[in-house]
Amino acid sequence: MREKKFQKNIENFSCEHCGEKVEGTGYTNHCPRCLWSKHVDINPGDRASECNGMMEPVSIEIIKNKYSVTCRCQKCGFTKKNKTSGNDNMDEIIKLSSKDNIKNHFFLPR
Ligand SMILES: [Zn+2]
Ligand SMILES: [Zn+2]
Repeated sequence: MREKKFQKNIENFSCEHCGEKVEGTGYTNHCPRCLWSKHVDINPGDRASECNGMMEPVSIEIIKNKYSVTCRCQKCGFTKKNKTSGNDNMDEIIKLSSKDNIKNHFFLPR
């Protein structure tokens, strides 16, 4: 038996950054409104980290036509990529992408 690395946890939580009430779907690990997440996992979904630092969205990239947000833990510097979901705040994604070099993806030079 292989160790299961991904556990699906369905839980609701309140965003500690903007206060948004987030309804858990089992996949949501970040706030759809401000895109912040919390450093609670070592492997996705395991909630094994004791850090509990707030993870700030620092950059965004497109992987297979989906936005992927990189969040960095403010406490320990751990970074993690979160896939965005359809519920996510497009304004925040755009804001984030405009301060990052994603421009290169949108406005391909030449
Ligand atoms: Zn939030
Ligand atoms: Zn951390």
